[in-house]
Amino acid sequence: MKLDPSLFVRPELRALGAYHLDLSPSRHKLDQNEVPWDLPRRLKEEMAARLLAADWARYPDFHADELRHDLGRLHGHPFEGVLVGNGSNELLSVALTALVALGGEVLGAEPSFGLYRSFVLKAGGVPRFLPPRPDLKIPAEELEAEVERDPRRPLLLCTPNNPTGDALPVELVERLLERLEAPLLLDNAYGEFCQYDYRPLLARYPHLVLFRTFSKAWSLAGMRLGYLLADPRLVTELIKVKLPYNLGHASVIAGRVALEAEEEARRRVRLLVARRPQWEAMLREEGFEVFPSEANFLLVRTSNAKEVQARLEERGIRVRDVSGYPGLAGCLRVSIGTGASLRAVRAALGPSPPGPLSLPLPPSLTGRGGERREEKQRRRGSVERTTGETRIRLRLDLDGGPRRIQVPNGFFAHMLTALATHAGFGIDLEAEGDTHVDLHHTVEDVGIALGEALASALGERRGIVRFAHAYAPLDEALARSVIDLSGRGTFHYAAPPEVAAGWVTAEFPLTLVADFFQAFADRGRLTLHLDILAARNGHHAAEAAFKAAALALRQAVARRTGSAEVPSTKGTLSA
Ligand code: PMP
Repeated sequence: MKLDPSLFVRPELRALGAYHLDLSPSRHKLDQNEVPWDLPRRLKEEMAARLLAADWARYPDFHADELRHDLGRLHGHPFEGVLVGNGSNELLSVALTALVALGGEVLGAEPSFGLYRSFVLKAGGVPRFLPPRPDLKIPAEELEAEVERDPRRPLLLCTPNNPTGDALPVELVERLLERLEAPLLLDNAYGEFCQYDYRPLLARYPHLVLFRTFSKAWSLAGMRLGYLLADPRLVTELIKVKLPYNLGHASVIAGRVALEAEEEARRRVRLLVARRPQWEAMLREEGFEVFPSEANFLLVRTSNAKEVQARLEERGIRVRDVSGYPGLAGCLRVSIGTGASLRAVRAALGPSPPGPLSLPLPPSLTGRGGERREEKQRRRGSVERTTGETRIRLRLDLDGGPRRIQVPNGFFAHMLTALATHAGFGIDLEAEGDTHVDLHHTVEDVGIALGEALASALGERRGIVRFAHAYAPLDEALARSVIDLSGRGTFHYAAPPEVAAGWVTAEFPLTLVADFFQAFADRGRLTLHLDILAARNGHHAAEAAFKAAALALRQAVARRTGSAEVPSTKGTLSA
């Protein structure tokens, strides 16, 4: 048969481009606006246990009513006005299919989420998307004028807007609602990161439909789960368009367990929102024009977007090239990631790999055959570091000396003291930071400074023991640290799930221990495996971890007797 069956597809659909992205693994994945942290293992195990207990031979509920009830409670919205689907994408498509007249226009604005155009076309409608404004803000006034011209066209609005990050104040959304005589489909996928809360409008405007997702703040993109909030009368109709049983057991269970642990999601959101200005400042320092964002990503503009993207990709950092979107020539979109990702991006963009921002190095330790001289020389490193968030002054002496530690958190000071004492280091540290926002910046930046000071003090790393390991117990808690002063920064960490996501004190989550050592290993250029093997509480877990790291460090930096050479299978270690 010569028939080409693709020709049977409706021509306006055949003209659509397929959605495509590079999904190959990437070390720093900053291209899909996911949050950088997977769910705590404890929650995944709970989900898996409930999935095991379910009867897989049976169909699930038609519309996942239990999850609808949970979401109704979370948002103070009647459960009959909640609809859940395979990602908010499915529900956007369902709503447009139900609400768009064949050949009817749907109002919107460019640039925005790339799939909107195809959703409207699939629904048989005609996108009437306003062109970008020069400042790339959502064109509220222009949309209002369009609504006034003909108020009976549905309006599809993304706020905070992907990919610009701009969000409309609630009053402006309300002005549009006042004038519209058709549904306002408000895609609020990034709502959790935004200062504006549109949910109260639902009670007053029955033509508002709010779309939310579990893919961002809830760390569940891999489970495909989203929902909409609307007037129950509208949802009763949308249910007829949506397929029955659209959600399987797995995603329903995942969503319900995630909601039970709501505080986890709130914590992730708080951390990302607190980090947003840090990313913004870093990208600006690297010469980008950065647009203000109310979401967990930033839009940046540069004269050489493609080159920058390629340079980042080479270093394992994936960002999104959005330069082909209307109005976005030269633009990239960068998701806000971990501190390690931020440092990786800065290192990749900076003029040269970041060296220690250090004071003069100790006298050179490089002289061959200078063993006797080395022995007399103290190995010291000093770092002064000032960023938008922290100011740190640190002097480190690997061969001992007085210890003075001033940091703005009692528990952190306690841990650093344990680290210096058990490693046998002398230390003089003063750190200040934006702890009113979060302790995170300060803890991470002290980790950076300590790593840089260590690297500086070690110089070329000749004549040291290099490999070491240690266990440290604290009552029931047990930690193990394995170190290689390898010249490459690698960090591996594990902790029992029941304490990993817990809090040591009201300000100090145990995750900060990992963040601290990640930064330290990264900048100190050492391989560090840190495993908390047992612990009942966060305090013991943290203290055992710091002590184990200290004990291994003490051995690893010790001078070897009889040889000044660094044992290495790959030539020099001072890379
Ligand atoms: N709306 C916007 C604006 C988005 O950016 C995304 C995902 N990137 C979605 C909807 C789809 O989310 P989901 O994973 O819930 O389908």
